[in-house]
Amino acid sequence: MNKIFSIILGISFSGFGLGILLHPKFYDSKHDYYYDFSEIKLPLGSILIVIGVLFVLLGFRKKSKEYEIKVLICPTCNEPFNNIDVPDRQCPNCKSDLEDLEGFYERHPELKSSRDTPPSPRAKKLPISPLRRNG
Ligand SMILES: [Zn+2]
Repeated sequence: MNKIFSIILGISFSGFGLGILLHPKFYDSKHDYYYDFSEIKLPLGSILIVIGVLFVLLGFRKKSKEYEIKVLICPTCNEPFNNIDVPDRQCPNCKSDLEDLEGFYERHPELKSSRDTPPSPRAKKLPISPLRRNG
């Protein structure tokens, strides 16, 4: 789902929920219909707001993917760090330049024995069988 669409949808849901909480009764002059949500305004309004907030969070979460947590590793101490904890990419212990953990053991195979981190097995994609047409 498009993130902007998700945020707009979330704001609409929250706004509608808030509207029900604040004005549970309203008259639709166009359709000559009188709405009264006063008895269910609390559950209905809060559910709508919660759904809306979730949509907004979903929209912003996709955006923040560029700020993803990366694991860095010190080639000297062989110690892993989060990139958030070390913005200067320098080891707090020995001031060595940190390297991305991704592909680190491929670049330094000699360090592989000291810390056993087998690569996570990737799920194999099952081949999609083509649709069969009968007749
Ligand atoms: Zn270090």
